[in-house]
Amino acid sequence: MLKTCSCGELSAQDAGRTVTLAGWVNRRRDLGGLIFIDLRDRDGITQIVANPEISPAAFAAAGTVRPEYVIRVKGKVRLRPAGMENPDMSTGEIEAVASQMTVLNPAKTPPILISREENEEEGLRLRYRYLDLRRERMQRNMLIRHRAVKFIRDFLDERGFIEIETPILFKSTPEGARDYLVPSRVHPGKFYALPQSPQQLKQLLMIAGYERYFQIARCFRDEDQRSDRQPEFTQLDLEMSFVEREDILQLTEELIIGMVAHACEKRIKSVPFPRLSHADALDRYGTDRPDLRYDLELVDLTTIAGRSRFRVFTRAQAAGGVVKGLRSPGCADYSRKQMTDLETLAKSKGAKGLAWLALRQDGSVRSPIAKFLAEPLMAELMAAADMEPGDLLLMVAADREVANAALDVLRGEMARRLRLIDPDEVAFGWVIDFPLFEWNEKEARWDPSHHLFTAPQVHDIPLLDSDPGAVMSDQYDLVCNGYEVGGGSIRIHQRQLQEKVMSLIGLSASSAQEQFGHLLEAFEFGTPPHGGIAPGIDRLVMLLAGEPNIREVIAFPKSQSATDLMANAPSTVTPEQLKELHIKLDLT
Ligand code: ASP
Repeated sequence: MLKTCSCGELSAQDAGRTVTLAGWVNRRRDLGGLIFIDLRDRDGITQIVANPEISPAAFAAAGTVRPEYVIRVKGKVRLRPAGMENPDMSTGEIEAVASQMTVLNPAKTPPILISREENEEEGLRLRYRYLDLRRERMQRNMLIRHRAVKFIRDFLDERGFIEIETPILFKSTPEGARDYLVPSRVHPGKFYALPQSPQQLKQLLMIAGYERYFQIARCFRDEDQRSDRQPEFTQLDLEMSFVEREDILQLTEELIIGMVAHACEKRIKSVPFPRLSHADALDRYGTDRPDLRYDLELVDLTTIAGRSRFRVFTRAQAAGGVVKGLRSPGCADYSRKQMTDLETLAKSKGAKGLAWLALRQDGSVRSPIAKFLAEPLMAELMAAADMEPGDLLLMVAADREVANAALDVLRGEMARRLRLIDPDEVAFGWVIDFPLFEWNEKEARWDPSHHLFTAPQVHDIPLLDSDPGAVMSDQYDLVCNGYEVGGGSIRIHQRQLQEKVMSLIGLSASSAQEQFGHLLEAFEFGTPPHGGIAPGIDRLVMLLAGEPNIREVIAFPKSQSATDLMANAPSTVTPEQLKELHIKLDLT
């Protein structure tokens, strides 16, 4: 090694030792007679002093270095003079007095400062990602990620799981997104698809008798980008045979609890993780990925509001819609501007408007719709919402979906405004009992709520013929802080049932055979009951690290427009490459 110790490990006990350090110049301060260098490596920062009386050569070298130069320093560790200690640094009690200094490699002036985060454009950070990754914040994130994954591997290994890699070049694995395709050179006109997840492969491993499989798996989905999405992302993919839903939930819960304790400083709000049915989640929080860090539950006011003289309410009820409310404690004095901001937010989710009613501390009511609400009805509304003096009731009248979506964002907004979120806490929960299908209005057919391999709950199987919309599935989603951080299910393991679900979602027998013939055939060779789950590593680590988006916990992420700004990908290729792949471009 070019160094004898790291820049983060020296302390007062090392005073008197001669050490060799190597790293990057974080900062240099020239005080005329003395030059101080903060030398940085992955482990920390050590202060170097160059004194011309001790080593004229080291002092001369120190005069030439600039931020991000890579240097090597030999020197003697000593205690810093009294009063010069830095309690914010782990090495703040000592410094190393340079006897030799070598520039291993100079550096151009970096386009982003490493020692300090400035609010530079994210594009610049991504363009120079290797510099951005030198920053303490990013190194911390990479470490949390490493610890989380290491914990997962050890935990599952102890429980008899084995890690098996599955192909990246495969066949379309429908999980509801568009596939990334890879043209085949040797099979003109044919394509591999990158897996959206190893779903079919892990089921085939259960058929193959492996019983407990996992993989830290890369998944590829060509979807529109959002802050919590990337074209490629990483899942902990796992599958078990001879299990029921409860087994997977228990195992995952234990794994997550251990991982949080091991990888970061966050506290888990409630253990065991609360469980909500899908219907309950929508009723109480307006979403199937509720943020359980705070309460603020929604109330259904439809039957009361439907008896008012307010046309917006009565019409919504008559059209089969709902009037739902959100009590916002202590917000009765909200200004007109604050109300308009909230209304704008509700409208961004499709609501036509936002009705409200404030109960002032003195017991009087303020509401733009007061004249449409008889006093007893107003009292009923307030009682239904558990209003106390000082509270504000926000109400949205719309079809159920729009009302839920609008109140979901309002709920998040009010939690932020009311400072109900403890940044040191993560709140996990399970959403269970999903419907097996969702109606696809546009194509007039059923879509699987999860994916087409999810099993219907056994007692609902007869309903597949008579009332598919009423069939509940054995799907479960893990949610955390308002994100879905994992989903899974007990799977179908019989050919006949799988074919029935395929036909209900509009797959003809021939396309089922063409796309899934291998799996259907495998089902006939002794398939154990099985199920699994796939928590998303990027989202989990994002939450554990307290970061606002998953790009912060991925070493080399794509930008919001799915490009790699550092290497400039995707990029054009040569005509020869295209020819070999039998591809003609049509860019019109
Ligand atoms: N393959 C599923 C997904 O990616 C997870 C699972 O069902 O295990 O959502």
